[in-house]
Amino acid sequence: MNEHDSEQIAGLLVAEGMEAVDDVEEADVVVLNTCCIRENADNRLYGTLGHLRSLKERHPGLQIAVGGCLAQKDRAKIMARADHVDVVFGTHNIARAPALLDQARFGPVVEILEEHDADPTALPAQRKSGHSAWITIQIGCDNSCTFCIVPSVRGAEISRRMGDIVSEAEQLAAGGVREITLLGQNVNSYGRDLGAGQYQPQFADLLRAIDEVDGISRIRYISPHPKDLRPDTIAAMAECDAVCEHIHLPLQSGSDRILARMHRGYRAERFLERLGAARAAIPDLAVTSDIIVGFPGETDADFAATLAVAEEAKFDSAYTFVFSPRPGTPAAEMVDDFVDPEIIRDRMTQLTEVIERHGTAHHKARMGRTEEILIEGPEKRSSRSKSTEDSDPAAVRVSGRSRQGKMVHLEADLAAGTIANVLITETAPHWLAGELVEIVEPAPIRRVRIPLAAG
Ligand code: SF4
Repeated sequence: MNEHDSEQIAGLLVAEGMEAVDDVEEADVVVLNTCCIRENADNRLYGTLGHLRSLKERHPGLQIAVGGCLAQKDRAKIMARADHVDVVFGTHNIARAPALLDQARFGPVVEILEEHDADPTALPAQRKSGHSAWITIQIGCDNSCTFCIVPSVRGAEISRRMGDIVSEAEQLAAGGVREITLLGQNVNSYGRDLGAGQYQPQFADLLRAIDEVDGISRIRYISPHPKDLRPDTIAAMAECDAVCEHIHLPLQSGSDRILARMHRGYRAERFLERLGAARAAIPDLAVTSDIIVGFPGETDADFAATLAVAEEAKFDSAYTFVFSPRPGTPAAEMVDDFVDPEIIRDRMTQLTEVIERHGTAHHKARMGRTEEILIEGPEKRSSRSKSTEDSDPAAVRVSGRSRQGKMVHLEADLAAGTIANVLITETAPHWLAGELVEIVEPAPIRRVRIPLAAG
């Protein structure tokens, strides 16, 4: 969500006639879009602002803006600690960033809105990828997970109108986008706030509507909440050709006692039931998750329950996090129940072993299969496979993602956006590698709108 907000801020500035530069030394405007969900967000912000202070001394015309959820939370602190900042704006007024920069030519401006000032309609975006795009379908969150800062910095849930979302998908498809990822804090509750007394679209309706858009071959979404994963969403996933066979379902804990302390609204048994229903309806479904280790009060028995659920769920992969208190959240107040870091380290090792074991088994099972891959671009050195090391150093290698979201490397000269069938010949815990079988769809030609000259 934060990265897509950055794309939108960049899009708004480009619409004002600005250009992106690779070297911050050449910039007239620097916007830092913060995310306080990240650990150490404040240290990183003040460190970066420290570097920018000397840049501003050398380029007095430079404007510095700080936006995002840390700005929403710590507006006064930012201005007090960094008087060289020109603009502070929050999560609810991104669209105002260019106007605030204009206003700041006459002095520093702080504008934080406590509530959304508009419907979450489409803003222009400078997208990094020409073939994949995020679409925000909903902003804010109505849940109250005790470890999470999102509800207090992003406000209540507001769904975007379905017609508006579908029209953005159509425009993106016309411009060469193949893959759309729908974004929301809890996408399954999409539409709950729309159409009072009239037609009220559900998330499943949205999946079906975007599946109808010509040119969109893949639909993904992030994140659903396990408590709201309903049968109609599972049915839409199973029936829509473009919806990928991948679901990211955050477990957070396998202990009912800890899930209750987290205010997650489900028990482990319910989580496993819903996961089972999704796997039964959607063949070859990949499942990924998020798990927190060491939530305040987590006992050995609670952690054993998490391990047991992770064994049963057999995730393809999971982001595992050590609990880290976010100031302003209820969990940060549970200081007396904080778990000893030594114990957390040991639990993390045990959980990682379970997650990696199942992930490796899922990958091994794909050996010898043909996978449909959407090429993302040249293979990165950091993710090199064994077949890379054995291959001709002059050979062109690319990477892409399968419909299950797995990274696949291959030797082929294919443009980003190409969809190809690849025979899997090598597996590793975090990637697959293979050989090109055939091109299913060549990369689309990107159509760039040329503005008509005035007069
Ligand atoms: S569902 Fe829970 S974890 Fe997700 S954004 Fe809302 S409060 Fe945070």
